[in-house]
Amino acid sequence: MPVTPEEHLSGFVVAIDGPSGSGKSSVSKQVARRLGYGFLDTGAMYRALTWWSLHEGVDLTDADAVTAAAQRFPLLIGTDPDASVVEVDGIDVSAAIRETRISTNVSAVAAIIPVREILRLLQRRLISEAGRARGGVVAEGRDITTVVAPDAPVRILLTASEEARLARRSKELHGAADADAVAATRSQIVDRDRADSAVSEFTVAADGVTTIDTSHLDFEGSVEAVLSVVEGARA
Ligand code: C5P
Repeated sequence: MPVTPEEHLSGFVVAIDGPSGSGKSSVSKQVARRLGYGFLDTGAMYRALTWWSLHEGVDLTDADAVTAAAQRFPLLIGTDPDASVVEVDGIDVSAAIRETRISTNVSAVAAIIPVREILRLLQRRLISEAGRARGGVVAEGRDITTVVAPDAPVRILLTASEEARLARRSKELHGAADADAVAATRSQIVDRDRADSAVSEFTVAADGVTTIDTSHLDFEGSVEAVLSVVEGARA
């Protein structure tokens, strides 16, 4: 059954957006664990669709062909924060979608507006299902606070300075944050964010969205900051 934006979301929905390296995936997942909620990584859905399009030999510059691939996209994505599942047509793609060839191509897929509409409907359905099953859900991405779940009771923009984001991501990708590692990471992060900004606003909080700057917070501090906004809204 399709879920339209006008239909109420089930469960308590925590919507979190932010740029690459803001820590939103790991922080959101930990917040979901602490609350006993479901967790939806919408970036993994765009990545999986990019993987599927390449697997099917679809030309990513052909918007109609990518849209057609999105319409028959056999995705299985889990919403248990302790058991990540991302499968396409029965193939486990959870590691493959993190490869550089996906990171460098995903923005082209995410820029196609009909594709975003297909994924938005799917994301709302997954959010509602997880919210219903667990009483709540934390959903993270680039347009969750603004487009996918603007009606969520908690909406947070997780930001961090470019310097902090580059240092974090280069540690993840290269195991170091020295000058060379940061330079190698810069184009991946900065270019991707620039391309993604053409279709989503995730650097400035929309009305009613709480900004949390994690530049000077460690992982636990970021988790606590999000939890305190959630507790405030639930109280
Ligand atoms: O969060 P992550 O870096 O895995 O997202 C991968 C890509 O998916 C982003 O660079 C962006 O192109 C796309 N995306 C999006 N909207 C979302 C989540 C991700 O366009 N809500």
